[in-house]
Amino acid sequence: KIINVAIDGPSGAGKSTLARLAAKKFGFIYIDTGAMYRASALKMLNLKIDIKNDIPSVIKAIADTKIEISHIDGNQHIYLDGADVTNLIRTPEVSMGASNIAVIKEVRLKLVDLQREIAKNHSCIMDGRDIGTYVLPDADIKIFLTASAEKRAKRRFDELLEKGENVTFDEVLCDMKKRDKNDEERAFAPLKPAGDSILADTSELNLAESERLIENIISE
Ligand code: C5P
Repeated sequence: KIINVAIDGPSGAGKSTLARLAAKKFGFIYIDTGAMYRASALKMLNLKIDIKNDIPSVIKAIADTKIEISHIDGNQHIYLDGADVTNLIRTPEVSMGASNIAVIKEVRLKLVDLQREIAKNHSCIMDGRDIGTYVLPDADIKIFLTASAEKRAKRRFDELLEKGENVTFDEVLCDMKKRDKNDEERAFAPLKPAGDSILADTSELNLAESERLIENIISE
């Protein structure tokens, strides 16, 4: 039987790290749907399309964009029009672009089709913002993972520093709040806990504790 686990929540709650660890533990594949929005945003940045102010051009460009994923050694790789862009989509510029492109319904519908297709054929842990509410309303397990904005920004800030990105904590916190607002206030498939989701707050938990919490929820 195919098992689908949905993990939703705001940026920086630790979804990707925890989903990846749990997927490894349970032998499922891990699907990072944010990477699909990021790759779509990268395409627009490459084409110099102003995502916020030129939605018709975004819709036109997304119609002939090919987004695909594969797994190599358990890690998801994402392809934009045939090119592996996995390592190009984690910059602050792409993060903000992804957040802006994610409010566009036409973009979401295309990516949701891809997500549903994958979930139909594979036991997976899929992370995103609307997986439990919209993409996979019948998922076997739904987790809403959250943490305070300050804790989430601190984690993201530490990650970016480690990668040598030149950012301040305030910039990261401010970006995160903007992205939260975009996700929560968009008309189509906004970020919110599914009615039947289990809430997991990692504000006061370290990685090992968070991992245990998520794995306990899944194995119950
Ligand atoms: O999860 P991640 O931060 O990589 O996602 C990038 C952006 O894509 C998010 O800021 C969010 O706006 C959007 N997203 C979404 N729905 C998803 C996954 C990501 O709207 N299922």
